[in-house]
Amino acid sequence: MKKNVLFSCVFALWGATSMAQSAKITQYIDPANMDVSVKPGDDFYRYANGAWIKKNPVPSSKTRWSTFAVLAEEASTSLRMLLEDAAKNPNKSRLTQMVGEFYASAMDTVNINKKGFIPIKADLDRLAKLNSHADVLDAIANMRVQGIASPLFGFSVSQDSKKVTEYIPQIGQGGTTLPDRDYYLKNDARSTKIRAAYLEYVRDMFKLTGVDDATATQNAAAIMALETQLAGAQMSRVEMRDPQKLYNKFFVADLSKTTPSMNWTDLMAKMKVTTADSVIVSNPKFLRFVDSLLPATPVSTWKSYLQWYVIKNSATYLSDDFVKRNFQFNQVLSGQKEMSPRWERMSGLTDNTLGELLGQLYVEKYFKPEAKQRMLALVTNLQQAFEERIKQLDWMTPDTKTRALKKLGAFSKKIGYTDKWKTYDGIVIKRDDLVGNLRSASQWSYEDRVKRLGKPVDKSEWGMTPPTINASYSPVRNDITFPAGILQFPFFDFNADDAVNYGGIGAVIGHEMTHGFDDQGRQFDADGNLKDWWSEEDAKKFKERADKVVEQYNGFTVLDTLHLNGKLTLGENIADLGGLSMAYAAFKKTPQGKSNKKIDGFTPDQRFFLGWAQVWRGNSLPETSAQLVLVDPHSPGEYRTNGTVIHMKAFYDAFNVKEGDKMYVPVEKRIVIW
Ligand SMILES: [Zn+2]
Repeated sequence: MKKNVLFSCVFALWGATSMAQSAKITQYIDPANMDVSVKPGDDFYRYANGAWIKKNPVPSSKTRWSTFAVLAEEASTSLRMLLEDAAKNPNKSRLTQMVGEFYASAMDTVNINKKGFIPIKADLDRLAKLNSHADVLDAIANMRVQGIASPLFGFSVSQDSKKVTEYIPQIGQGGTTLPDRDYYLKNDARSTKIRAAYLEYVRDMFKLTGVDDATATQNAAAIMALETQLAGAQMSRVEMRDPQKLYNKFFVADLSKTTPSMNWTDLMAKMKVTTADSVIVSNPKFLRFVDSLLPATPVSTWKSYLQWYVIKNSATYLSDDFVKRNFQFNQVLSGQKEMSPRWERMSGLTDNTLGELLGQLYVEKYFKPEAKQRMLALVTNLQQAFEERIKQLDWMTPDTKTRALKKLGAFSKKIGYTDKWKTYDGIVIKRDDLVGNLRSASQWSYEDRVKRLGKPVDKSEWGMTPPTINASYSPVRNDITFPAGILQFPFFDFNADDAVNYGGIGAVIGHEMTHGFDDQGRQFDADGNLKDWWSEEDAKKFKERADKVVEQYNGFTVLDTLHLNGKLTLGENIADLGGLSMAYAAFKKTPQGKSNKKIDGFTPDQRFFLGWAQVWRGNSLPETSAQLVLVDPHSPGEYRTNGTVIHMKAFYDAFNVKEGDKMYVPVEKRIVIW
């Protein structure tokens, strides 16, 4: 299920979860992972991680292999044990019944294979009978309410970013399948190859549902043509980073006037929303385009298009032939050689679907409450360091500083896991019906949003499940979240020295805090409202600095001719730069930060930077890198490591980096924002 939090800035684009491991670590900075033949001032990332990178190619069932992936693999194994136990003993509690039966339904391939595509047959048949454009709209509303799929446009209920104490319906652009609009619109070799593979994939999937070859080929071509038109009306990912641009509030009646084929009062009522008088539309131009496309496209095309949504949304939960063909297409996108084992995929699915139930089993067994106390202390130290840095900024005027400090002081902190677990009341889980279970969960999730209209905003809610190896900042809630999963080595360890913990989780904390002040986050005030609190002069100075960050990251090459997109990754790069600086300032207040005592041959400052670098070690398949450069707002680990340290004097001092070294940046060109 997709998360509904607007503009939530996560630490890394990574869907996996983790679990505390028990292996005893003897060296927190291990020279066996480094390549000391590389000068740290030439390529710090390789100096710190070179041997690890060589020893750890991407396994055949993965697309990336990294710190995150290693933790994720441990995660799956532990989740599997919890889930297998729950599946064997479902009657222990409602909790074990829900997750146990769900996991059992997902693992029962005998039953799943016997059913083939029966779980979606009734939907396909119903869609085949659509007669008019009005039927098409009804079907779209119905699919959403039933938890089947969300075709054509996005629709949910979330906080009004200019009045964050209230919920409001939000309509977004959507309607496409490939990971970015560029895949439809660009004519480079990669995009062309992926489009050709996509056509075959759609055709083959229709054939698996009993459609003849000629019709399936026709369907695929019609779907491609329709999705290409929709892609053409979508905003780019860079445009979507502008929160003001996405904020277009309409009275429902007025919105309907701009889209004569779509009466939003009717349509929303069919989507169970009857009480809202206004909505926010992220891309009105897209909606007007959809409105013109509706009557101009034959009903037969809409039928195939909606059927395609049913098929693709369920493909991985149907019989093996669907799963395999779906994977074959994913291979073209990601380069992955082999499918990961089913239990691993299904543990992840259970975490995605019933995460706050599975999460309870997880924290009971693996989370140490002391970790929460230790984290709170670290967060407080980082917050203090941030406060001091804001006070010392030479480019910001006192008034704006006062408002920045107010915002910093208003952060709320979520650490480990939620205090108020979701109960998922109403979700029906049956041991022999995976697709049915998923629909019930998806339907619940949709209603859970819709029911919020008119109610107070629940600020205690979490957007991440406990085993998640990630962290996040939400501008509309002004909160930072660190789930249990990220509170482990190499991010955090009870026995590690401060240098390693501050270079790891300290920088993560600083990163999330800085999101409150990156090019997007700075547009939201202490209460979370999208409201300008900057003087014109300060905003101008901020932009000048941010533009330099854009330019710097535009210069990094990811793969052959592919360059990083400095505008797409700007918020994350600002957060990394601020986060590492903040973590360093906080580290310098610790006893180790003040000492010169070497551990395993490294000074405290060297260990701090090496701790940061080892978080980012990793390998990724070229196909995956090519995809990430288009869709991921985070820079690759190599540039997250090297792109930040080059602006910090302490790095030059720690490793004796001098003019002539490849990473050397003259003092006047180093960027300091926060
Ligand atoms: Zn981030």
